[in-house]
Amino acid sequence: MPTLTCFGAAREVTGSCHLLESAGEFRLLLDCGMHQGGDDVKSAEQEKIQFDPRSIDAVVLSHGHLDHSGLLPKLVRQGFSKPIYCTSATADLLKILLWDSWGLYQRDLERENLRRERRGKKAQPAAYDAADVEAVLSLCDTCGYGQPRQINQWLSLTFHDAGHILGSAIVELRMTVGGQVRTLVFSGDLGNSDSVLMRPPAILQKADLVLLEGTYGNRNHRSMDDTISQLTDILAETWNRRGNVLIPAFAVGRTQEILFYLGRLHRQGKLDNWRVYLDSPMAINVTGVYDHWLKLLDEADVRELNELDQQSFQRFLPSLTLSQSSEDSMAINKVAAGAIIIAGSGMCTGGRIRHHIKHRIWQERNTMIFIGYQAQGSLGRLIVDGAQHIKLFRDQYAVRARIETLGGFSAHAGQRQLLDWFGHFDNQPQLALVHGELASLQALAEKFQAEQQVQARIPAMGETLAF
Ligand SMILES: [Zn+2]
Repeated sequence: MPTLTCFGAAREVTGSCHLLESAGEFRLLLDCGMHQGGDDVKSAEQEKIQFDPRSIDAVVLSHGHLDHSGLLPKLVRQGFSKPIYCTSATADLLKILLWDSWGLYQRDLERENLRRERRGKKAQPAAYDAADVEAVLSLCDTCGYGQPRQINQWLSLTFHDAGHILGSAIVELRMTVGGQVRTLVFSGDLGNSDSVLMRPPAILQKADLVLLEGTYGNRNHRSMDDTISQLTDILAETWNRRGNVLIPAFAVGRTQEILFYLGRLHRQGKLDNWRVYLDSPMAINVTGVYDHWLKLLDEADVRELNELDQQSFQRFLPSLTLSQSSEDSMAINKVAAGAIIIAGSGMCTGGRIRHHIKHRIWQERNTMIFIGYQAQGSLGRLIVDGAQHIKLFRDQYAVRARIETLGGFSAHAGQRQLLDWFGHFDNQPQLALVHGELASLQALAEKFQAEQQVQARIPAMGETLAF
């Protein structure tokens, strides 16, 4: 009987990592993500891989986000050397995301070790290095959506479009064990069917066990129409106050969506004379990958991009300035008013957004707009939760800027969408909920019970499910 053990994203949102195995036959890892929201040196040190990486036959990666992929270099460092199955677009994104993560980690580790040296303490060894990142990228073995792939004599893998970010996949694994066929469907991160650019998540109907994410298991998103009119109002009011707008954005997905919507507002004559700055080399690179893979995106939205024969997010928004160097970034500080600054990181745990927060958050005329999930412990979560003061670069800053959250931009399915998606399975599979804070997963489980008479399990860290 196959079993599944949750080693991460169990009653929490990040660190997705699940081990599928059948004694003596196969051991397969679904995702190998890192925990996010804290200090990257501490977390690289503290993240423990709780099984022998050398015993794993393959990794199946649902998508490129670091909370699903970020521990792969450490896995390789500890002896894993088998294929990593993912879609081609995911492999392209990994090249950017893993190198960026490595760069940040290396820089922070050097700083930490200098601090330790000054105190006469021993240096902390690196949890992984550049050769490990290279190795991960060379192990990627790509599969297209809807194309079954035989992994070994027991396992067949098919990816389906999850509609979450470019290349994201729902993972369907059919396994033949002891003459019986069993199917596991892992939702990965399930997209918000209301969002632009991404297609709606694929519908599946047969499974024995469904592992479903529940990031927003306790609420529904506002509709996109409402969200865009809210955005338009916020921009107009901030424009009238002669303010600036800060948008902490995740480089993958949310950045391209916001660029798309700002481009649309511009074409509708609703963008005033805002100048838009994309202040993130990583987001700029990722936007290039989106430009390259337009064929995977929603046809109607791509048609809109193509209408002007401009197959690029950059040209869709003429007032866009790409800030590559740190000099470009610092030059934005001199803009007194009328700047929309999109910078990472999405949860304000690092990156250039922290400098912009330092320069602008204490001024009432500015607005900070959150368009993505803010994990517990992150600076973004503190601000969203209404902190009056924040600490940044060892200084205190008063939060005077207007703080707004636009829920409709979420790249995750809301409660109703999660219920509907699971409702298509017609053979009453077991259901396990992961990738959500406990309260959110419990609220979702109650809904499943009330509406579909399904008893959902909420596995704890390290818990094993048989199916
Ligand atoms: Zn994700």
